[in-house]
Amino acid sequence: MVVARVFGKSSSEVLQRENDRLAALHQLDLLDTPRDEGFERIVRLIKQIFSIDIGIVSLIDAHRQWYKACSGLSGDEVSLEDTFCRCVVDCDEPVIVEDASKDARFSKHSAVTGEDHIRFYAGVPLRTKAGHMIGTVCAIDRRPRSFGSRDLDILQELAGAAMDRIELMQSAATDSLTEAMTRRAFKQEADQLISLALRHQHDLSCIVFDIDHFKTVNDTHGHAAGDDVLKAVASICKATLRAGDLFGRIGGEEFAVILPHVDREGAVAAAEKLRAAVASQPICGDHGALNVTASFGTSALSIVSKEIETLLAQADAAMYQAKHAGRNRCVSWSSIHADHGIGARRRVLKAGSILFNERRSTIDCTVKSIGSESAGISVSNSAGIPAEFILAIKGEGFETNCRVIAQDRQHLEVAFR
Ligand code: GH3
Ligand code: MG
Ligand code: MG
Repeated sequence: MVVARVFGKSSSEVLQRENDRLAALHQLDLLDTPRDEGFERIVRLIKQIFSIDIGIVSLIDAHRQWYKACSGLSGDEVSLEDTFCRCVVDCDEPVIVEDASKDARFSKHSAVTGEDHIRFYAGVPLRTKAGHMIGTVCAIDRRPRSFGSRDLDILQELAGAAMDRIELMQSAATDSLTEAMTRRAFKQEADQLISLALRHQHDLSCIVFDIDHFKTVNDTHGHAAGDDVLKAVASICKATLRAGDLFGRIGGEEFAVILPHVDREGAVAAAEKLRAAVASQPICGDHGALNVTASFGTSALSIVSKEIETLLAQADAAMYQAKHAGRNRCVSWSSIHADHGIGARRRVLKAGSILFNERRSTIDCTVKSIGSESAGISVSNSAGIPAEFILAIKGEGFETNCRVIAQDRQHLEVAFR
């Protein structure tokens, strides 16, 4: 019945709906944002109310499902092909699978046949007020079970609560854990500072930094210790920065700074000061004293880089170069620029494919920033990807040979050849 509905729509209608959905998701700018206790509470409630193993609030882009909050499964995201939630997106309505092993659509799925041993799945759309489905809220169990209309009502209420929280967060300017600015507020204020700098022709620069091996802190000492580290790092940085600098948390353990009246060289010096401050102060708490470092990238306002998105993408590319070079160091985007001829880039979120082995091997990726000569790409695991490959952007007829210039477990910076 559900499939018939989809088949009832013309392919251009389906494509339009998908494009509108992705535009709504992009507008919210929520992918890869920090953990948030409000969503953690919702997934805990899902598990408690239905007495089941797994609760998820997820956002779904063109090719991946990213967990805004997830309890009961490890990992932050999965490729969309591997998910039950794909079905909720395709049908645009709730999907209930009482026993996946007996359901022809899912019985051969690796989550059902493999060690995750998934049997029960209920997923409902996470829908904006305008009606666009940006993700799902789901309840999953390793045993088959039934799910009545009352259960479905409750799950939909929880999806409504999640959406309310997303809308509330859109207006929040301060990140509750670190008291840094939220990504959205940071970008808005950065836009204003950039306009001022351009109008009055003064310098402005940008720093992006990411805590090194932060996953190990969480894995070894627990999430609460990870949170303590984030708070302490933010507090060290705020104490080191000037009052007029903007300081934002733009990802889980990724921060950004805008330095008005500071040029390219000044930005490197400021980044170096932050790096030294973080590296030299052990973070004390219930977990004992932890030594933490971070990797920094810098960029500066110029004729070709006058958008916050470009400055962030350039500083981000430099930061990944710093990771690649051994972490706990600062790299200026201009130095990569000189070495690799990378032009200005814009931030995007596009589904792409990495092709190699004479096109016999394909890996899905997300193209996160792109310019005329280079791109920043995210993958679920970069191991096994060769130094040279073809990058294709699905649906755009884009295809080009690439050379890897910096690499991380989940990120690649490539120059087009
Ligand atoms: P790298 O040196 O390459 O940056 O490695 P990493 O381990 O820092 O990087 P990775 O991106 O693999 O891990 C980041 C981790 O941060 C994974 C995610 O679960 C965790 N994280 C994100 N937000 C929060 C948060 O608010 N609190 C805590 N405790 N952890 C968070
Ligand atoms: Mg990190
Ligand atoms: Mg990171």
